[in-house]
Amino acid sequence: MGYDAFVRCNCYKEGKIKKPYFSEYLIETIDGFELNLPKNILDDKYLSEKIENDFFDWEYNGCEHEDMEYINCRISNAGGMGYLIGAIEYINKFEKIPLLMDYVKNCNGGFIDFKNIHEFKNEIDIFKKYGGIPIYEFRYINENDNAALDSTVSFNKEDEKKILLSKNNFQLYVLNGIFYISENNNVVFHASNLVIYRQKHDYSYVNLMTKEKYNCKFIFEDKCFKIYTKNKFTFLKNPEYFVELFNCFAEIFYDLIKASIETKNPIIWC
Ligand SMILES: [Zn+2]
Repeated sequence: MGYDAFVRCNCYKEGKIKKPYFSEYLIETIDGFELNLPKNILDDKYLSEKIENDFFDWEYNGCEHEDMEYINCRISNAGGMGYLIGAIEYINKFEKIPLLMDYVKNCNGGFIDFKNIHEFKNEIDIFKKYGGIPIYEFRYINENDNAALDSTVSFNKEDEKKILLSKNNFQLYVLNGIFYISENNNVVFHASNLVIYRQKHDYSYVNLMTKEKYNCKFIFEDKCFKIYTKNKFTFLKNPEYFVELFNCFAEIFYDLIKASIETKNPIIWC
């Protein structure tokens, strides 16, 4: 599954495309043409099929732009989309980007009206300024064979406070890039970079920066450690920002904005 966007060309409006013989049945919508055949034609199976085929052919080959689309961009696959949505929601916590937030909801069918295009460009400028969003990665390492099991923690949606692990009265969570351990809702230890060591049922938490240490029992469900019995649980020191992917999204949006300004047509998500 993919996410795309396009901007329609103006060839029909400007008379560069010859009116087809079925033009009286054409209905123009925001994202293209539809064929609205009357009942007497629909009842004639041969004729209605011929008109439909000619319509698709006309739409596809009518002008120099395939499908009468001035520009057509692949925005992302579903995986990249998760990152993009996370990035939009992350940035919106600091600066309001309502059109991009709307895109999160409508990326498979909404549009950006031409009258909002400059506002949209301002939002993409804000987006681009961030250059990436922090994605934290943590890693379990089995000390017996050094096999690693990786997982990621991104900052999206409710990630203001992300509960990573909890058991009984203990909780391990991330808040704005700092890892916290709380006991009965009282913070007992926090660190921006930490390593967790396990020995039997005891864990020790070490702040990599200050070497400060905290011990406690049973934060983890033992089933987490079915295979990884002697473990070191590490938060990788620095978050990844996926700068290249982030900038790639900004460039796609700029291309669409440019096409919208040139044609005065909306950007349509599909
Ligand atoms: Zn065209």
